[in-house]
Amino acid sequence: MSILTFKKLALAAALASASTFGFLASGAAMAAAPMVKTPAPGFFRIMLGAFEVTAVSDGTVDLPIEKLLKEPVPVTNLALSKVFLMTPVETSVNTYLINTGTKLVLIDTGAGGLFGPTLGKLIANLKASGYEPSQIDDIYITHFHPDHVGGLSSNGTLVFPNATIHADQRDADFWLSQKNLDAAAPDAKGMYQGAIASLTPYITAKKFVPFNGNTELTSGISAVSSYGHTAGHTIYVVQSKEQKLFLIGDLIHVAGVQFEHPEVAIEFDTNQKDAIAAREKIFTEVAKDGALVGAAHLQFPGLGHLLKEKKSYEWIPVNYTQMR
Ligand SMILES: [Zn+2]
Repeated sequence: MSILTFKKLALAAALASASTFGFLASGAAMAAAPMVKTPAPGFFRIMLGAFEVTAVSDGTVDLPIEKLLKEPVPVTNLALSKVFLMTPVETSVNTYLINTGTKLVLIDTGAGGLFGPTLGKLIANLKASGYEPSQIDDIYITHFHPDHVGGLSSNGTLVFPNATIHADQRDADFWLSQKNLDAAAPDAKGMYQGAIASLTPYITAKKFVPFNGNTELTSGISAVSSYGHTAGHTIYVVQSKEQKLFLIGDLIHVAGVQFEHPEVAIEFDTNQKDAIAAREKIFTEVAKDGALVGAAHLQFPGLGHLLKEKKSYEWIPVNYTQMR
């Protein structure tokens, strides 16, 4: 082959290759498309019997779980790498909206402005899901930690102007107490102050109605005491047409550790022994029942089923649905 023929062949090959990738259409290489770098809207919707359930994300927050999870199981990056995680673990904060057909009920409200810029996305995601804050009739609170009540108020005003707030009296007594605030360690005072700032506008407006222990709050939704994580920590059981959903609040924080080792407590537990007992009691019941679970800190949407395996559990995330 002559040099000239070789050059012609090489040029033909280059032209064919270039036109395949579209380089020649504009006479120059096109710039790469800029990355969009925004997540999908944070809501996910399923039906539960005749009820519509929407998981609504408040965002995520990084948790240094190696410092937060308690013995007997040391949490190291090596252990976490087995579930493809590294500490700090980006942790979801989920809320749940139940439309019973006659009532619109929100379970928990995320962190609002109390926990930094990666949270406080509830209202944007609620609107993206097709609802307005003013449409919500009732809000049921699992407990008074700032990532669950912070979204109630903004600068002293009601974020949910037409909603009545319900929670266990025990959590109100504990977290709204000036005496407990005064006695708290300096780095713990913010938890009390956040709860007080979030609830006070509703108390003033006579829109805070606490309950005591197990209570049916509306047809198909009941409060079930699961004290331990906080003094009044409550889960909500939603039932429609034989289908059941347990909204378990903070019974679990770290899927990668606490399903295998439900005996591991977390620093945020007010009473670690009771929190572990409550987790094991409810997990056993849910696994036996085959009920659906929604959890505030499992990866969004935090919906799935539990299988019991000796002393451990396996988490089966809910199947993706377009509600056809
Ligand atoms: Zn929480």
